[in-house]
Amino acid sequence: MDCIFCKIIDGEIPSTKVYEDDMMLAFRDINPQAPEHIVIVPKCHIQSANEITSENVKYVAAIWEQIPKIAESLGFGKDGYRVVNNCGENGGQTVPHLHFHVLGGKKYIDL
Ligand code: 5GP
Ligand code: ZN
Repeated sequence: MDCIFCKIIDGEIPSTKVYEDDMMLAFRDINPQAPEHIVIVPKCHIQSANEITSENVKYVAAIWEQIPKIAESLGFGKDGYRVVNNCGENGGQTVPHLHFHVLGGKKYIDL
């Protein structure tokens, strides 16, 4: 499949991994929007949040369970962080493989 994030999961495209298990891969964003900018992707091609089902939601649950642990391991958990999911065209999604941005190391004031 011609998907950048599937290729990153398969190791065809290199990435700076910060966490990996059988459900997900977390790596540094190539174009960081915060001092710490991690992208977490399920190891299953789900196109967007609109494609989450009762069958595949376990990947989303596993990712959310891991987010605080990844933030803690990278040293910005205690200060807090923002988690962003862009869904579809109006949401600004550019890579059609579900992913969560974890942004830390700066303070957000507005939404
Ligand atoms: P979206 O705009 O779809 O919510 O987020 C896609 C994110 O993936 C962007 O922040 C972009 O910088 C990041 N990205 C796109 N291609 C690559 C890549 O090849 N490697 C890494 N590490 N990040 C990428
Ligand atoms: Zn994919």
